[in-house]
Amino acid sequence: MKTDLLITDSLKGIYFPQAGAIDMAHYCQWLLSEIAESQLTVYAESPVTNIQFSDHGWQIVFDPSSGLDKVVDANFQHIIDCRGAAAISFGKLNSELDTALDHLHTTAGQTCQFHSPRLAKQVTQVLCGKVYLIPLADDQFILGSSFEDQASSANSNDLLLKPAIQDQLLEKMNQLLRDSHIPPLTDSELQVIPLQGKRAYRLHAQDRLPLVGPAINAMKLSRDFNKLGQKSLNRDELSHYNQPGYWLNTAYGSHGLLFSMLASQHLVSLICGEISPLNTDISHAIHPARFFIRHLKQK
Ligand SMILES: Cc1cc2nc3c(=O)[nH]c(=O)nc-3n(C[C@H](O)[C@H](O)[C@H](O)COP(=O)(O)OP(=O)(O)OC[C@H]3O[C@@H](n4cnc5c(N)ncnc54)[C@H](O)[C@@H]3O)c2cc1C
Repeated sequence: MKTDLLITDSLKGIYFPQAGAIDMAHYCQWLLSEIAESQLTVYAESPVTNIQFSDHGWQIVFDPSSGLDKVVDANFQHIIDCRGAAAISFGKLNSELDTALDHLHTTAGQTCQFHSPRLAKQVTQVLCGKVYLIPLADDQFILGSSFEDQASSANSNDLLLKPAIQDQLLEKMNQLLRDSHIPPLTDSELQVIPLQGKRAYRLHAQDRLPLVGPAINAMKLSRDFNKLGQKSLNRDELSHYNQPGYWLNTAYGSHGLLFSMLASQHLVSLICGEISPLNTDISHAIHPARFFIRHLKQK
């Protein structure tokens, strides 16, 4: 790991001396600087409203408010769809391409940021248990994160912090502190902690594995195999059903940082026809068509 991407004010983990917490803003800036070196164009804050296939390749339709609808008039050989949880909240871009989304869900998560000079003297390392506690500069802490049930996760446009979730996080933190033989925060210390942190949504599949690989033409696959059943389908020849040049790299749940780098290398190898770092079993396990295939008759 690039050590200059670690949050500099947070000390190392207890169990993994080389571990720490990544400064996400710094990490994203580093990724952008890598893109700049390869002279690619990045369009930020530019919602895509549709993706269409023409004889000349894929066309991206931008929201007119971005002004890009007049700027980007190009055909692309390849599109990688990595919309994350917003794919669910904003709705489908293209019903034929988005069939994989039918098998995905979102889970709400919330973090809490607070200030405690007293705890800062005692917690000088990242603590991990049912929650994680990350010490930052100026006696600040980040405490995370909640995993909420489907009912609380249904409206993924709701980004307002929930006081009850923050209370649960603080309660779990106190248990973690007790387990680590560190005096927990007292009731009066807890009462002055303001509602502060972040709330967001994770996109995940039921099997908690990401969707990485080609999007398939579900109608064509269904037409050919609905009667024959899934056992007649040779997984190694599934590429006949690919949407040509349309790829998925999404549904990382709560493991985006850990999984995305390796899984993205796998995707690059599929696109470029190179040898993948993943074996065939793992490649099948993260294939975007896996749920669709499971729903075919078991003959
Ligand atoms: C509270 C919380 C704590 C978490 N903690 C961790 C952690 O400790 N470690 C970890 O690995 N993961 C963690 N996660 C999960 C992490 O957020 C995901 O793994 C990661 O964000 C997935 O990255 P992604 O690029 O697939 O999706 P996202 O980060 O969701 O990125 C998708 C992007 O696509 C954009 N987009 C979507 N639709 C459109 C459209 N139509 N047009 C244009 N742009 C669009 C979105 O705006 C967004 O910027 C946490 C999540 C939450 C909610």
